[in-house]
Amino acid sequence: MKDLDLIRLKGWFSQHKRKLPWRENCSPYAVWVSEIMLQQTQVAVVIPYFEKWISLFPTVQALARASKEEVIKAWEGLGYYSRARHLHEGAEYLTRVHKGQVPEDESSLRKVKGVGPYTVGAIRSFAFKKKAVAIDANVLRVVSRLFALEDLIQSQKMRQKVAEIVTSLLPDHEPWVIMEGLIELGALVCQKKPKCQDCPLMPCCLSYQTGKTHHIPKLRGKVPVTLLHRLVCIIKTPHYLLLKKGKEGNVMADLFEFPYLEVSEPIDDITTWSDRVEKRFSLALSHQRSLPALSHSFTRYKAFLYPHIFSTSHLPDIPLHQWVPIDEMDKKPFSSGHRRVLAHLLRFLHKKRVLG
Ligand code: SF4
Repeated sequence: MKDLDLIRLKGWFSQHKRKLPWRENCSPYAVWVSEIMLQQTQVAVVIPYFEKWISLFPTVQALARASKEEVIKAWEGLGYYSRARHLHEGAEYLTRVHKGQVPEDESSLRKVKGVGPYTVGAIRSFAFKKKAVAIDANVLRVVSRLFALEDLIQSQKMRQKVAEIVTSLLPDHEPWVIMEGLIELGALVCQKKPKCQDCPLMPCCLSYQTGKTHHIPKLRGKVPVTLLHRLVCIIKTPHYLLLKKGKEGNVMADLFEFPYLEVSEPIDDITTWSDRVEKRFSLALSHQRSLPALSHSFTRYKAFLYPHIFSTSHLPDIPLHQWVPIDEMDKKPFSSGHRRVLAHLLRFLHKKRVLG
């Protein structure tokens, strides 16, 4: 790549870059939050969460002061909740050790919970305007195509090669524009199906010149999706519902869910299951009705949920479960599938109240 190519990339970026809230407010805190939210999540999904987050927790100190439940509630629906927990712990750490400031140097940033090499590079480049390399999936795709690199995209070797190339490309003057320009080019033009005719780097792209744009990057096969079937037990008294909170270290940590039983196949007929539910909770239950089945995906799983309402008149202590007042449900952070079950349930209860 020559200087002229970098000038073309800069010109394209200034003309086509998206207007994003973390570009308008590119404080180190805003960049840190946005980059953590953008991991595994699309920009359009992140924008409203980012705006809400910044209005709820406008500074590192405000985030550190919030309770874990408030933080998880603000993240509800975004998935991969360990990111929210890491932001919270990171804010507590920065408040304790750095007076609530996001540090500029690499080694201090690496000590913040959940901040990996990409986020370090992004914060130093976009917020502190340093000559710093940030390699994400977009940069890997763009650079592997530009230089026709044929190693597996997920390999360490490829990541290292791309980091070396990007380091050599970043100029001394405004290096962050080239860094963000490469990321934006990957997001808008050099996508899975590249739009080479719109690309400012077409004249220097080796994959384009050799007709390899659809063979590069080389990807490892996808991990197969595992199907899960779950009988969701909505156990209620007139004013309380039985809930379970995800355990620390678990993928659903700090999120509320209705208790459920793993079953091997779809549930069409609840009668065969009612006894098992009664035994599981040591409670006399009466099956009230079924709610619509639904599915939701997380990590490499697709879970089918079959919700059934059971009523009881007792509220015994059940280990690892809590009886929560129905009118407090909206304040609790739920996993996304169970949030939808709750919405169906509240609609049903409302209709029942209205119609008597
Ligand atoms: S020319 Fe095509 S393949 Fe090459 S960088 Fe541009 S969009 Fe990607």
